[in-house]
Amino acid sequence: MKRFAFKILIVLLLILTSCVNSDSAAASSENRYLDNCYMYMSLRKDDGIGAVLNRFNINTGEVTVLCPDPLCEHRNDCIFSTVNRFYVFKNILILPFDYHFDEATQERWYEAVRYDFVTNETKVFLNYGLSGRTMSDFSIVDGYLWGKYLMYEADNPYDKPTEGYRTYRYDIIADELEYMDDFVDIPTFIYDNRYYFINDIMIYSTDLSGNDKIETDIPVPIWTPAQLDMSEMDNGYLYYIGYGSDPDSDIRIEYIIRINLLTGEYSQFQLPQLWNFRIYDGFLYYIPVYDEYQYYLGHDDFKNKDIVNNTGGKLMRIPLSGGEPETVIDLGDEYLPSYSAIIEVDGKLIVDYGGFDTHEMFGVMTWYKSGGGKIVYDTVSGEYAVYPRTWNRPGGFLHEQNVF
Ligand SMILES: [Zn+2]
Repeated sequence: MKRFAFKILIVLLLILTSCVNSDSAAASSENRYLDNCYMYMSLRKDDGIGAVLNRFNINTGEVTVLCPDPLCEHRNDCIFSTVNRFYVFKNILILPFDYHFDEATQERWYEAVRYDFVTNETKVFLNYGLSGRTMSDFSIVDGYLWGKYLMYEADNPYDKPTEGYRTYRYDIIADELEYMDDFVDIPTFIYDNRYYFINDIMIYSTDLSGNDKIETDIPVPIWTPAQLDMSEMDNGYLYYIGYGSDPDSDIRIEYIIRINLLTGEYSQFQLPQLWNFRIYDGFLYYIPVYDEYQYYLGHDDFKNKDIVNNTGGKLMRIPLSGGEPETVIDLGDEYLPSYSAIIEVDGKLIVDYGGFDTHEMFGVMTWYKSGGGKIVYDTVSGEYAVYPRTWNRPGGFLHEQNVF
């Protein structure tokens, strides 16, 4: 691969990393899903400031606001507004780090909140205390929300002996919170009666009490955020994305690594040049990037640069066991996939695509990102549907997080 291509790839991946982070890494897709609907944040159209949770029906393309109150303006007091992290587990929405601001007292604090989709009941199950906390890791493992947050002694409303990070887990269905002071990190998944923990440089496991720590040798560092594929876990195989360096340079190369957690055996192969991807059920699905092919979309006079599509409007896949790539969707050049992560729910992939509009600014024509929409691809039947942007639809919301 040419050096030029690597540079593009790295830029894309750096951008992608931030997007994927905001979309919450790894195996979180299924934790944003209920009744055929995938939940996501988007900007409110009315004031262009706040954001609100929406649900996207993967069978019909319908987008609705999650907040059940039709009169609500989704301001500070609406829990569905400006959510920085969220999960859906069965019929419970979890907001593990919900920001609050009291105008009267000028106090700011964070709470962990649950909302029951069936009963419409809201409950705060953890108050992190006053004066800002560092949001740290969260995961949903084994029916629990796991959280780790930084707390300070000074205004600690709880009986915590020392300041520092504290790990907890919350039984989502039973509505029970417990502190897990023997756990330094929060687990990424559970397998064979052990918790596995994945960070940038290592995989390790402990027993269910957080003891008996065993590290797993890995060939190359894990690319953050790791995308995991658990489909072969019956055999102990875990797939993840990792990175290394080109032997002739310091340029980063991404790999797919298959590792047997029981024996430590692993194999790897280099990723194709891609835009974004999703590991699912034995395949790497990805939007390809062709540096030799650039479809001209237009020129942005304001930024003085060409807008091009070099993805071919394709969704491709390659077997994780190796083999040849194949095209599963070819929509043509007008479909420019967005940077957002490819989401998998219920065997279907959600691929966002971008839209552009032009307007005149300071006497020159400029392009700006707008609308876009979602493509839903059924990995079983091979069928797909293209849903146009929701801008100006009833309930009109911009897909601000999901546009190119
Ligand atoms: Zn609301």
